[in-house]
Amino acid sequence: MRQAESPSALNLREYADGIQAGDRAVLARAITLIESKKAEHRHAARDLLQRLLPETGKARRVGVTGVPGVGKSTLVDQLGGNLTAQGHKVAVLAVDPSSIRSGGSILADKTRMRRLGRDPDAFIRPSPAAGTLGGVASRTRETMLLCEAAGFDVVLVETIGIGQSEVAVADMVDFFLVLMLPGAGDELQGLKKGVVEIADMIAVNKADSDNVERAKRAAAEYTAALHILTPGSPNWTVPVITVSGRENIGLDKLWAEIERHREIFAASGELAKKRSRQQVRWMWAMVEDRLKARLAAANAARGTVAEIEAEVGSGQLAATLGADRILVLLEK
Ligand code: GDP
Repeated sequence: MRQAESPSALNLREYADGIQAGDRAVLARAITLIESKKAEHRHAARDLLQRLLPETGKARRVGVTGVPGVGKSTLVDQLGGNLTAQGHKVAVLAVDPSSIRSGGSILADKTRMRRLGRDPDAFIRPSPAAGTLGGVASRTRETMLLCEAAGFDVVLVETIGIGQSEVAVADMVDFFLVLMLPGAGDELQGLKKGVVEIADMIAVNKADSDNVERAKRAAAEYTAALHILTPGSPNWTVPVITVSGRENIGLDKLWAEIERHREIFAASGELAKKRSRQQVRWMWAMVEDRLKARLAAANAARGTVAEIEAEVGSGQLAATLGADRILVLLEK
């Protein structure tokens, strides 16, 4: 029995059906809705997400970070190709803090991932440019959910190794992979930045040809250094491995560790707990972001605030009423 529906509700169903059928074009259009600045699009996107919620959550969510040049694109391209060859469907997303300023992203870029770029079982979407890191992270989370509903069972989220964005990505994935360059002590700098504290695994990349010995030494140093950190889970010791994304060396081991982590965390209940905490934190982050946006808008109406202030200051208006009026501004 078909009920009469408004055009937007019908659209919503078309979006939902298309995404669940794995239609790329519909998925891409839905992501555009998510990234749109128009309120009506955002509302439609929210309704769509709510509708698709039961279809989400099935992917391995993996964050990948490292300094520019560490080999993220090369490794994601290779790893993603290995996984699609095994029958997985892989989505590659990005949180790029520089895209906020430049409006363009160098991460999750098809030209930098030649293999995945033309793989029918892969979907690559660069970082949204959404004003704030919170905004970018939020759009990426929403996109991740849509990709899951579209049947992608692996979602790789790339980010550049600069503080805040790494924390944001670590907070939306099940597993956070930190890539390091082979080389002497310098690499231990990463420890100071706190990145390693949120790592579920460290992979020293480019462990090929001349680099093999140096990569092994770096891995030994990280292993030693990790001993002094308190583990995030009593069930998981952060592995340090050496890989070569370009030469496809060690990537099977890398993926096996991610699977092992998943099994352990699923069995102990930590995976469900982690995800549930992430959702609740995300909700409050959005509340905070939206309140800030309203405050900014109210600030733009500063004249009004200044007037209220003057009236309260001169005794014409009761402070309680003044407070009410300012709060009303926030509700607009
Ligand atoms: P990203 O900036 O972290 O995405 O790094 P890219 O994947 O663009 O790689 C940066 C440079 O390192 C490129 O010149 C790559 O050819 C090179 N590179 C990437 N992976 C490897 C690797 O596994 N071994 C070696 N020797 N070079 C690599």
